[in-house]
Amino acid sequence: MTVRGEVFGRLGDGRVVERHRLSNETVDLSLITWGAAVQSLLVPDRDGNLADAVLGFDDLESYVAHTEYFGAVVGRFANRIAGGRFEIDGEAFQIEVNDGSNALHGGQVGFDRHLWDAHPLGTDDGGGALRLSRVSAAGEMGFPGSLAVSVTYRLRGLDLEITYEATTDRPTVLNLTNHTYFNLAGAGSRSVETHELTIAAGSYLPVDAGAIPLGPAEPVEGTPMDFRDAKPIGRDLRAGTEQLRLAGGYDHTWILTREIAARVTKAAMVDEASSGRTLEVWTDQPGVQFYSGNFLDGTLSGKGARAYRQSDGFCLETQHFPDSPNQPSYPSTVLRPGDRFTSTTIWRFGTS
Ligand code: BGC
Repeated sequence: MTVRGEVFGRLGDGRVVERHRLSNETVDLSLITWGAAVQSLLVPDRDGNLADAVLGFDDLESYVAHTEYFGAVVGRFANRIAGGRFEIDGEAFQIEVNDGSNALHGGQVGFDRHLWDAHPLGTDDGGGALRLSRVSAAGEMGFPGSLAVSVTYRLRGLDLEITYEATTDRPTVLNLTNHTYFNLAGAGSRSVETHELTIAAGSYLPVDAGAIPLGPAEPVEGTPMDFRDAKPIGRDLRAGTEQLRLAGGYDHTWILTREIAARVTKAAMVDEASSGRTLEVWTDQPGVQFYSGNFLDGTLSGKGARAYRQSDGFCLETQHFPDSPNQPSYPSTVLRPGDRFTSTTIWRFGTS
């Protein structure tokens, strides 16, 4: 196992963005300190050939110029907050809106658009790890409280474990996830519509035209949202139901079925037949946002100058439910002083 750091680029103000490589005999992972993002992730196919399974850019300038959240950690509140408004203990807060009238992924300048500090960790358990941390100041984008937050990426064989931790000095809301777009056939090689997806969820959250959940969960049974048994992402993508039309495809939260809350359990499984690459997503979070890359429109050139077109990548963002601060029936996303938020998601690669 090796962990190596290098200069990835410089921001306009001269600050250096580092790239750190974690690699073992099977996986090669590059992380950048801009957005604590996964910049590349080489994983083997059934014959052992490596391909980069995540979308992204070769250069820092492209990350700074675009807001697709490729590989980034999103926060302070991943997903949407209606009107950017919420209350904690009766006190009202307004977050800067950046998605129509709603706040998306933490507002205009979310965690994806900040420089994180990198701390390579020991390899005592035979794995290599990188911890990235930052302090989100009180009032950043309108959120209350100074939040000390870290994300640790740990490579163990074909597993990439992602652990989030946070503490605050005032009650705040928090929802953290990683926004990697996967393509198990190789980023920029083809659409993900033939990838077979399973999601361990019997219900999902229908949304309005602004992608804010209407409230109650609906059963997936008998709808294109049913991924309880493996099916190609593209099979029902053009079914034309109201929910698929509103979101331009899949862009919804599935409510994970688990017997014991807060345990890390298998949330989703993806199988790409041509390469044999598979991905399992395990998490302790209550939901997963499955996003089928609806807004990729072919105008962006990613790594290797490959254009990313609609559905050239998919995201499985493990997280709390959108707009939780305004939905009292959803699991709470409030973090209070003295409490430590911790959460784990595992991406388990393999071959079939
Ligand atoms: C959201 C999409 C949004 C995308 C941004 C996803 O997490 O659900 O609606 O367009 O992030 O790239």
